[in-house]
Amino acid sequence: MILTLKPPATKKDVDAICKKIKELGFAPHLSKGKDVTVIGVIGQNAILRRDVFEAMDSVAFITPISKPYKIVSREFKKENTVIKIGDIKIGGHNIVVAAGPCSVETKELLFEIAKKVKISGASMIRGGAFKPRTSPYAFQGLGERGLKYLAEVSRVMEMPVITEAMNVNQVSLVARYADIVQIGARNMQNFDLLKEAGRTKKPVLLKRGLSATIEEFLMAAEYVMSQGNYNVILCERGIRTFETSTRFTLDLSAVPVIKKLSHLPVFVDPSHGLGVREYIPAMSKAAIACGADGLIIEVHPHPEKALSDGPQSLLPEQFDKMMNELKAVARAVGREI
Ligand code: PEP
Ligand code: MN
Repeated sequence: MILTLKPPATKKDVDAICKKIKELGFAPHLSKGKDVTVIGVIGQNAILRRDVFEAMDSVAFITPISKPYKIVSREFKKENTVIKIGDIKIGGHNIVVAAGPCSVETKELLFEIAKKVKISGASMIRGGAFKPRTSPYAFQGLGERGLKYLAEVSRVMEMPVITEAMNVNQVSLVARYADIVQIGARNMQNFDLLKEAGRTKKPVLLKRGLSATIEEFLMAAEYVMSQGNYNVILCERGIRTFETSTRFTLDLSAVPVIKKLSHLPVFVDPSHGLGVREYIPAMSKAAIACGADGLIIEVHPHPEKALSDGPQSLLPEQFDKMMNELKAVARAVGREI
């Protein structure tokens, strides 16, 4: 349930309520809006204790949260969450584009790609150091060496980095080098990993599982947020359907649906969703048109030699052309890149 406090809510009021919530065995989650302060009382059957809070003077009114996901829901927080990384605001007016290779291969190549995508308008760099591959014989990533390259390129190029942590032990390591910790599609329901990601101080980009419903996706985000990390970006990256013309089916309907159900920023990853270079520009435009807050795009100057996902990687010049087209689409929907 949500407790809406009587304005002006003082620190003393907030502390007293949070103390009570903890005494009852629930978790308090505070959200200070422009005009109102609300506190979520999160835990099983919390609503059954509503009388305790009704009796408190500082509580204006109580609203039950009807959805199974609580802190993630729009019912908990009306305004969009905006995540700040340096000067970049994720979930605000501007659309944020992260671009880079599927896997970090060499430092030189990473620098080359970062320079090119930055000129084209990307503000963040992506690249995997720990790679979730279908085949155990495929390139598995450079590991910590890859993270070091990412951190160096990030520092020199002044571009924040998104990179994946595949297991619980990798979360703090990845968080040391990266600005955003990615949880991959195949790990969307790795609950221990989600909880560990919830304990890091870095924002988390959570990708939708290959066959996860939107509700399951939002419940996965709830796992992260339940641990106190409210900086979660949701990423639609394609789901499994009967269709085989593309690698997955990019479910763009998820964007407006999630925007309605949740206050969290939504990204789209057309590279993994389509798996085919040729279709990436069309679906990137569509993603922006339907309300995405950001895109993740794979770019490689020699896709035929890429150690992973060459067929879906755009050439830098294709990325550049696409970015120009995206700017026009962003303007048409009242946003900017
Ligand atoms: C990736 O972004 O590198 C990746 C492996 O994506 P996904 O988890 O969506 O397949
Ligand atoms: Mn990839």
